[in-house]
Amino acid sequence: MSKERTFSIIKPDGVSRNLIGKIIARFESEGLFVVGAKMKQLSRHEAEGFYAVHSTRPFYAELVNSMCSGPVLLMVLEGENAILKNREIMGATNPADALDNTLRKLYALSIGENTVHGSDAPDTAQNEIAWFFAASELANNQ
Ligand code: GDP
Repeated sequence: MSKERTFSIIKPDGVSRNLIGKIIARFESEGLFVVGAKMKQLSRHEAEGFYAVHSTRPFYAELVNSMCSGPVLLMVLEGENAILKNREIMGATNPADALDNTLRKLYALSIGENTVHGSDAPDTAQNEIAWFFAASELANNQ
């Protein structure tokens, strides 16, 4: 076990349906600490860059449009095995495949509007955090 940081987004469908509190409460109840947070309306440039790895996929335009459709809550979560723990809490990408009580099973509308994002590995977590947060915006509170 080791303390890690991961990057999390509550996507526009989660923010617009007033789910911020429920989602953060779930992270906190599972031992993840919010050490950075900000609300932001992503520009197309930011959304395209963030999801550049998917730029050749058929759903890319829909994904970028969805991520720009309203404000998102960007967060850095910290805790033991935070990257894997967050992925487990979120559940499978497609809510139809997500396990019971995962955030996507509980809240996602579809595979495109699946409410939350979470980094999938240490290198992506580091890059995604750096993409949106300066070191001075992150707490060192533990
Ligand atoms: P994640 O790490 O579980 O978020 O999944 P991926 O990195 O594979 O995909 C990034 C995001 O693209 C997902 O969270 C979905 O919102 C979206 N996405 C992935 N696959 C599809 C798809 O087949 N159709 C649509 N419309 N969106 C998809």
